[in-house]
Amino acid sequence: MSDRHAELVVLGAGPGGYACAFRAADLGRTVVLVDPRPTLGGVCLNEGCIPSKALLHAAEVIRDAREIGDWGVALGEPRIDLAGLRDRKDGIVGQLTGGLTGLARRRKVRVVRGTARFTGPDSLDIDGVAWTFDQAVIAVGSAPIALPGWPEDERIWDSTAALELRAVPKRLTIVGGGIIGLEMATVYSALGSKTTVIELSDQIVPGADPEAVGILHAALVEEGIEIHTSTRVAGVKAVRAGLTLTCEGAFAGDIKADAIIRAVGRRANGGLLNAEAAGVAVDDRGEIRVDAQCRTGQPHIFAIGDVTGGPMLAHRATHQGHVAAEVASGHAAALDTVLIPAVAYTRPQLAWAGLTVAQAKEAGIAHKTTSFPWAASGRNLSSGGGDGLTKLVYCPDTRRVLGASLVGANAGELLAEAVLAMEMGATLDDIALTVHAHPTLSETIAFAAERALGTLTDL
Ligand SMILES: Cc1cc2nc3c(=O)[nH]c(=O)nc-3n(C[C@H](O)[C@H](O)[C@H](O)COP(=O)(O)OP(=O)(O)OC[C@H]3O[C@@H](n4cnc5c(N)ncnc54)[C@H](O)[C@@H]3O)c2cc1C
Repeated sequence: MSDRHAELVVLGAGPGGYACAFRAADLGRTVVLVDPRPTLGGVCLNEGCIPSKALLHAAEVIRDAREIGDWGVALGEPRIDLAGLRDRKDGIVGQLTGGLTGLARRRKVRVVRGTARFTGPDSLDIDGVAWTFDQAVIAVGSAPIALPGWPEDERIWDSTAALELRAVPKRLTIVGGGIIGLEMATVYSALGSKTTVIELSDQIVPGADPEAVGILHAALVEEGIEIHTSTRVAGVKAVRAGLTLTCEGAFAGDIKADAIIRAVGRRANGGLLNAEAAGVAVDDRGEIRVDAQCRTGQPHIFAIGDVTGGPMLAHRATHQGHVAAEVASGHAAALDTVLIPAVAYTRPQLAWAGLTVAQAKEAGIAHKTTSFPWAASGRNLSSGGGDGLTKLVYCPDTRRVLGASLVGANAGELLAEAVLAMEMGATLDDIALTVHAHPTLSETIAFAAERALGTLTDL
């Protein structure tokens, strides 16, 4: 067999691609993993989930250090060494991406550095070298969306540039109030930027539960972040002295900024692969449609992760990666994409999974809600938490949990209980009768269930 032939080739080494390659190797397959980056891990490890969380940790500590003054503990105003913070973030990324290289080596996954393009249904070009394959998995991810008509200017950043931590601008405007935009707002506002967020929809984090989002919105404003919803940026002008955004809608007028972060969403990379040569359809959004087994229209070619559309989240990519590896290796596997949890690692965090009330209504699914306010949680108050909410959507007949939205400190960690409950078909009774340790934030999930059942004594 030529050494330019792959039994299973995985294109893209993000959380979808590397998980797929490693799982397939564990199932005994001979795997080639292709990516042009010098390190494995894709967007998530190199310029997404991990560097952003490292900076968010620093932001959290900065805020905590300021707020502990109210507890009679004076630490003084934090002094920020930007180079030190950057080094720490890069060190964490390096540790994780380096770890992946070791994991690939241990599994004998052959890593080829290069950009792949299909030349036929079972052939590829990788940086000018012809390859053939039996099966392929497309895991080429997504890239930030650029906005037409904006000037080219080094003070206009996408999320990748924002995570490089080039400077702390005095005035920062973030265009896009989704998860990425708000996480960047949380970081830069803690570092000292006067931060403004502009969002086209009538709420930040469009699609999430409005009641939970309302609590997050108020907390961000309280932190000093200015938010304009139902507002469109009609134009951006760049001159030496600074940037000017002209806005229309609920906020109409000019905003001056020293830097702008464009966080208006991501576009799938399916259009960059010459996938048509392989007979794989790519839509006008750059996305490749797949079934629950991650198959494209070609039975021997799979697609996973951001390139298959939303929600564009790492854990969805990873799970799809495992499914594709298993199906490609002859095993029965499938992924139900309804239960993909989402978390904004803002302060407070916003986390949700399953159905929101709006989604249940739209689908005509009978539902009721129950909730527990974190103002009544001893754990929340005693650990310095602010306003928060645990809200469950459930079926009135079976009392099964259909959806959960949480806002508050560590809401992202808490969400797992609700996701497991939904995955296992648990009812409110199951949750309420499960003894939760006191005082913990997880009690808020049990209390919300007890409230619906009429057994709550904590409110
Ligand atoms: C700032 C930011 C923060 C985020 N935070 C989170 C978070 O907290 N939680 C979360 O779940 N998600 C988060 N995400 C989203 C997450 O990063 C993506 O959903 C995830 O990386 C998608 O994984 P993937 O495997 O589909 O592709 P990617 O991670 O995008 O990887 C694709 C890889 O394919 C390679 N590639 C592209 N074209 C080719 C080609 N032609 N040939 C070979 N290789 C190619 C690329 O170099 C890249 O390495 C964040 C994203 C950003 C930008």
